[in-house]
Formats: sequence, structure tokens, C-alpha cells
Amino acid sequence: MLYLVATPIGNLSDITYRAIETLKTCDYILCEDTRHSKGLLTHYDIQKPLRSFHKFSESSQEKGIIHDLQAGKTIGLISDAGTPGISDPGSALVKECRSQAIPVIAIPGACAAITAVSSSGLNTDRFQFVGFLPRKQNERRHFLQELLQYPGTTVCYESPNRLVDSLTSLLELAPKRKIVVARELTKKFEEVLQGTAEELIAHWRDQAVRGEIVLMISESEEEVLSGSEWEKLSPDEHVSLMEQSYHMTRNEAIKMVAQIRGVPKRTIYNASLTNKN
Ligand code: SAM
Repeated sequence: MLYLVATPIGNLSDITYRAIETLKTCDYILCEDTRHSKGLLTHYDIQKPLRSFHKFSESSQEKGIIHDLQAGKTIGLISDAGTPGISDPGSALVKECRSQAIPVIAIPGACAAITAVSSSGLNTDRFQFVGFLPRKQNERRHFLQELLQYPGTTVCYESPNRLVDSLTSLLELAPKRKIVVARELTKKFEEVLQGTAEELIAHWRDQAVRGEIVLMISESEEEVLSGSEWEKLSPDEHVSLMEQSYHMTRNEAIKMVAQIRGVPKRTIYNASLTNKN
């Protein structure tokens, strides 16, 4: 049996009774950083062997773990913080267990994305979680451009070093969007800030961004592309709207419109050419 056990994202008290009881019954516990997790286990008097299991060891260790599980061992998987498998190691192992009919049980608990979105004041009926934004500025800008089409809240993990760069891209792509930054949730310096990209950039103009960050972007309030409104537009009008609304180049807009309409890029390109002639 594999138990996925959620652990705190800051405040050590944010762990369930069931999580502690489960960890106490495991044959051993897989974790990312043994020194880090040792602190948690000591705090809750959980005396079980800890084995390191991180992103880079996931596939090479998998065979041994599967072997132990098939032999009837009970293994707990935790990460440095929050829910295993959510931007943390675990999902490949779970996939393998599922494919081999090995039981997997999740013990729910803290998750930074859910904690952040629930306290954001943004739309919680519909949200997309995209994990970490790409590191490279160009890729990140393109990714953000795509995310901005989503008709609900977008939730991302972001490094403090790149937050201002991402906000700068958002200032260019979606200057009116409401953005919420949740920082250091459940910790001493917890704060949740809301504003436009410009306002948030100004907030960090004279101070470095520190700590752990969840960046959230509201849906467009102008709702230029909500529902199937685009169906009323010709492909050319649709391309022009995307160019203006999201500060895209014509080529970027054609690509995006083709994706939204589920047709090849060339169809949109030809339609806009026909319109021009
Ligand atoms: N598995 C974790 C979870 O369930 O939230 C996420 C692990 S991921 C490697 C770490 C990222 O989660 C951080 O870089 C940050 O973006 C976010 N995060 C984790 N703890 C946080 C906290 N206390 N406050 C804000 N964001 C946090």
C-alpha cells in the first residue's frame, strides 16, 4: 500500500491526525530531503526510517519501491511541503502503482495552490492550476499569453526571483487584470496582496521579493472571449480582437485563434488573406 501523505506548507500544526497515524504505521517513509523531513517526524514523534526520493531519483528508484509494495510493505510518501505529486515528486510512482493495481491512498491536507485560491477573493468555481511558470522569460511570456485565454482564475507557483519579471509581462499583456500574490502562507510573514500588475510591481520597487509565492490571475472582466462569443466573429475579426486584447503579433493571434476554433493555422491565415483582398 502506498500512502501519499500531505504535510504542512509552513505552520507545523497544519497536519491531520490521520496523516500522523498513517506515517506511524508505515514500514518506511519516502521524502525529498531527509534532513528537512526529520524535523517534522521528530516533532510528531514518528520513528520510522526515512529514504530520500526526489525528482531525479524517481524513475531509478521506482523498481525497488514497486517490489516492496508488491511484497506487502506499507510505504508513506511525503514531500518537503504540502501535497505529494503537486509540483513535487510522486506522480510517476502513482501512475506505475495504478497500472500494476497496487493500492494508493491519499491522505489529504495542505496544498499551497488550494490555500491560496481559497483566500484570494477570485473566482473559485473555475480555476486552472499550472504549476511553476517556465524559467525562461520568452517561454514564460508565451505561456502567460496562453493562460490569459482561460475563463476562470489561473493559479501558478512562482519563484520570488522571477515574480517581478512575470508581473512585467502581465503588465504588457493584460494591464487591467486583477492579480493576487499569496506569499508565505501559514507562516509568520504571510501576506496576500491584490492589485493590477502595475500596482504590484510598484509595491516591490524598493524591496526584494522574498519567500514562497503563489501567483493568481483573474479571468478577464471584459470577458472578450467568454463562452462561445467568438462564434459570432469572422476569423479575421477574431484575429484582430486577439491582437488588440492580448497585445499579440498577427502571427501569434492567428495561432491562438486556430487553437480556440480547433482548425489548422492555415485556415485562419487564408481566411484573413481572403478578407484583405
Ligand atoms: N506540493 C506542494 C503543495 O502541495 O503546495 C508544492 C511544492 S512546490 C515544489 C513549492 C512551491 O509551492 C513554492 O515555490 C511556492 O510557489 C508554493 N508554496 C509552497 N508553500 C508555500 C507557502 N507557504 N506560501 C506560498 N506558496 C507556497
